[in-house]
Amino acid sequence: MIIAETVEAVLSFFFPARCAVCNERLKESEELLCDVCRQEIRWIDLPDCPVCGAGASKMPRSRGKPDFSHCPTCPSRKRPVYFDRCFSAVYYNDTAAEIVKNLKFNRLFSASTFMARLMFIRMQENFSPIKFDCIIPVPLHPRRQRLRGYNQAELIAEELSRLIHIPLATELLLRTRFTKKQTELTPEDRYFNVNDAFAVREPELLNDKKVLLIDDVYTTGSTLNSAAKALKLAGAKTVIAFTFAHS
Ligand SMILES: [Zn+2]
Ligand SMILES: [Zn+2]
Repeated sequence: MIIAETVEAVLSFFFPARCAVCNERLKESEELLCDVCRQEIRWIDLPDCPVCGAGASKMPRSRGKPDFSHCPTCPSRKRPVYFDRCFSAVYYNDTAAEIVKNLKFNRLFSASTFMARLMFIRMQENFSPIKFDCIIPVPLHPRRQRLRGYNQAELIAEELSRLIHIPLATELLLRTRFTKKQTELTPEDRYFNVNDAFAVREPELLNDKKVLLIDDVYTTGSTLNSAAKALKLAGAKTVIAFTFAHS
């Protein structure tokens, strides 16, 4: 394969792989991120919030211990929470945000592999052995998906599905309302923006099923909660939400 290798060498000479965060040229041993940026990725510190998965260091302290009953990122206590639990792999710091942005808006598809791998490691370490029946990515509205060309949550879920050998189901959960971008809204408005924005196509396929619901980032939990609501109302037994990053 001399020719293929030569093409590869010429390509990497003219288009060297660059760090997805700082844009430095990558060494041969580095993938997606340079070693310096990789150091900036922070695993969620445990124990995490038993509802939303926020790390212990984000909690107010009570008698020297993290007080999860006042978790700042749990879905509002005024409203029901439909997912059984949310987990996240890493903190949504500047480095994680840059990776997410590059996947979402700059078509850096290799980022989804990287994100899924970190989530996979997190699963090995922290998930109780739940036997999931399927993985479902949080869907985009068809109009948004047409505009972007792809759904970043689906790319992550696809990769994770390969790693953990659980089937991906992308046709069951639908986004039925075209909503404003959550990033433009206050936490309160985020709730109303996505409430009842999802529906299930074939509820009988979800009856009594254990679902792993995937998204890129957990911010207020509104989107995941609304998607989980649709899944639970359709008959799903368990919905565990799982994101790459957590605010
Ligand atoms: Zn870098
Ligand atoms: Zn919480």
